[in-house]
Amino acid sequence: MKVYADNAATTVVSKEVVNAMLPCFTKIYGNPSSVHTIGQEAAIELENARSTIGKWLNAEPREIFFTSGGTEADNWAIQNAAAIGAKKNKRHIISSRFEHHAVLHTLNKLEKQGFEIQLLEVYNDGLVRPEDLQSALREDTALVTIMYANNEIGTVQPISQLGKICRDHGVIFHTDAVQAVGHVPIDVKEEFIDLLSLSAHKFHGPKGVGALYCRKGLPLNVFIEGGAQERGKRGGTENIPSIVGMAVALEQISRNMERNSDKVFALHNTLIEALSAIPRSRLNGSREKRLPGIVNFCFEGIEGEAMLLMLDALGICASSGSACTSGSLDPSHVLLALGLPHEIAHGSLRMSFSEYNNKEEVDYIIEKLPPIIQRLRSMSPVWEKIERGE
Ligand SMILES: *Cc1c(COP(=O)(O)O)cnc(C)c1O
Repeated sequence: MKVYADNAATTVVSKEVVNAMLPCFTKIYGNPSSVHTIGQEAAIELENARSTIGKWLNAEPREIFFTSGGTEADNWAIQNAAAIGAKKNKRHIISSRFEHHAVLHTLNKLEKQGFEIQLLEVYNDGLVRPEDLQSALREDTALVTIMYANNEIGTVQPISQLGKICRDHGVIFHTDAVQAVGHVPIDVKEEFIDLLSLSAHKFHGPKGVGALYCRKGLPLNVFIEGGAQERGKRGGTENIPSIVGMAVALEQISRNMERNSDKVFALHNTLIEALSAIPRSRLNGSREKRLPGIVNFCFEGIEGEAMLLMLDALGICASSGSACTSGSLDPSHVLLALGLPHEIAHGSLRMSFSEYNNKEEVDYIIEKLPPIIQRLRSMSPVWEKIERGE
């Protein structure tokens, strides 16, 4: 059996998406900037896609800017807000300790340029507290950037409360919603969001395409110099097949959100209950305030990497945290931000599901995982100490 339980890293591209993309390579292959009919056909597809993306966020088409993915949208949003702030001598930025590296590394760069970065606590449950934001805000705060949902543990932040606080203080609010779009309902107006990043490959669209929502009225700087594409803000011939694929993917997943979410929550609850019965295991992040489908556990006395290899040998594809940190031996910054000690954070396992998974697959994991843990613990000197109570 092959079980793909790594949907937070990326998702399969749906058949409908592939079918919608194919004609963009062979029939609607024009350059949207061309004046002739073949170019204009592509321009129509481009603008239809923009409307679709906007519709599902409650944004206007002109508030949507296409990018090469979530990383680019994060870079653009944060650098833009920083530049606006710097003009007014505001150089304080608030974020959280468990953001994606696309956000954290952009903030590191800004820090070297003289910005002051303040990272809010996320506590044991993986949730930012609105009152912490309230007290962190200053006269010179240029930007607040807090992710919508965490990609490693799946906790969903109180975005509308955070957004309201920022709006009341006249501070720009960005959210990296890459993990949330298509999985939970999002309304940029009701949630007071000024800038939002999304990426197609986290909701069954293609890789290498995403979008930045920028509220109208908020100035947006040029990010890539070049032609007049994306209203002159991001030069380069538009990636029409991928943009069309992203719009179809968002339309499809958003229309079925309730049904998908019920299905994926049922899988996720079954798994959480079964794994909670393993001694010295813990679910990371709040049990309630989470996305459907991301289940992250720590098992004491175990190396996450060893667990992953043994699972993979049985056809189960999971992750120790984020795809970006695997390969390095440092424990996940997200789990450390929850206050877990290094040795426990090392024993983490993230399994992430989509509507393409089923009950048989989860049952298979529930059958195969506990013996793996038992075996690894039987070989672990650390586990021996834990058992002796040292
Ligand atoms: C995947 C992810 C990104 C990066 O998106 P790409 O399209 O892969 O560049 C950024 N933030 C979060 C929360 C993610 O899960």
